[in-house]
Amino acid sequence: SLPNATHQFVHPFTQLAEVEASGPTVLVAGEGVRVTDRDGRELLDGFAGLWCVNIGYGRIEVVEAARQQMSKLPYASSFFGFANEPALRLAEELVRLSPESLQHVFFTLGGSDAVDSTLKIIRYFFNVTSRPEKKHVIGLERGYHGVSSAGAGLTGLSNCHLFFDLPLPYQHHIPSHYRYRSTYGSTDAEIINGSIDALQAKVAELGGSSKVAAFFCEPVQGSGGVIVPPEGWLAAMRDACAKLDILFVVDEVITGFGRTGQLFACDWERVEPDLMTIAKGLTSGYSPMGAVLLSDEIYRALVKQVPRDLPFAHGFTYTGHPVSAAVALACLEIYEREQLPENAKVVGAHLLKGLEALRENPWIGDVRGKGLLAAIELVANQKTRAPFEPGLGVSQLVRKKAYENGLIVRAFADNIIGLAPPLIVSEDDVDQMLERLARAIHAAKI
Ligand code: PMP
Repeated sequence: SLPNATHQFVHPFTQLAEVEASGPTVLVAGEGVRVTDRDGRELLDGFAGLWCVNIGYGRIEVVEAARQQMSKLPYASSFFGFANEPALRLAEELVRLSPESLQHVFFTLGGSDAVDSTLKIIRYFFNVTSRPEKKHVIGLERGYHGVSSAGAGLTGLSNCHLFFDLPLPYQHHIPSHYRYRSTYGSTDAEIINGSIDALQAKVAELGGSSKVAAFFCEPVQGSGGVIVPPEGWLAAMRDACAKLDILFVVDEVITGFGRTGQLFACDWERVEPDLMTIAKGLTSGYSPMGAVLLSDEIYRALVKQVPRDLPFAHGFTYTGHPVSAAVALACLEIYEREQLPENAKVVGAHLLKGLEALRENPWIGDVRGKGLLAAIELVANQKTRAPFEPGLGVSQLVRKKAYENGLIVRAFADNIIGLAPPLIVSEDDVDQMLERLARAIHAAKI
């Protein structure tokens, strides 16, 4: 008999009428870019799970890597003098593949705890290097950094702040580089200079560099609605942070592992961050894992200069889990062998072109994306960019119609639809996705 689908709390922040009426869609199998629900319906997965299944479903070589490691040694701690081979090898690979500035790896279980660990690492770093006053951190409005309490505070989306008094007292935000509804103006230069000015002003407001630890950003804002900064923005913010003597932290939980068309989005502008968070594509959803990548300077302060009265007492039972590490190594091999970042670049351009062509539909206000990370913003009036009335649920309606047409997409807020298929997707698959999306938007018209 089928398990009852009402006992698990599965839809924490979308009170969807259809979910409440009939329960969640229970997926039972996947192959390539397609998943099957328990009624036997096949769906195109236009969102790679939660933008994580980059290598697609049913990759036997990953399953085999997990099976072998599970049989050989399912667990070994990464504490008290112990380590395991897959985790060590994975750390070496990540250092080889990531920007030059990142020389060490701290493993976590996913993205939220990678962000949380990063915040602690930064605080600890300034404590042990005798700069305890450097404790403020600055993020972006519309940024998303996970659900740990500190990560939710750093997140610049107010619906993530409902749990405690978030943001925490040391967390601050500056406006996003969101061009379509811009605070800074519409040209690249206005957006880049506006962002730098806002960062400088925020640092000054907080009492200057001696009080500020770090600036956090995603190279493309994901959960805030897939917001792509102008070319040069990331490198300009990196330079601004160096000049301000604050750490530059990049959250590549979504953008890492090929999604934007390079292995890391930082690679587009040869940006060298002080710290980077990764997860999702690291194991492509086959097993949970995340990590913090950090510079040698920070690592040395953390590990080599440990004061006995101030130990860095932080870590997880499953830090460096050998099975997840074996899975990640198998995924990295696939990214390299199948050149998935390149596929994301080529097929991503095709996707963006196809979305642009949908613009003849008057509901589509903005089309944006980088690689296989794309979104459309739905508007009531294309010319004036007037949004639909809040609460009308237009994006949820389109998402539902897409599902009825055999396509999984993600709805953000009231008006944004996101597309981020597995990186193995072909142009033919994308054409099918676009066709189903067009039908969905048409069917959703009130
Ligand atoms: N950072 C970013 C940029 C994310 O998109 C996410 C998850 N969507 C997280 C952190 C949190 O990762 P996780 O859900 O694995 O905890």
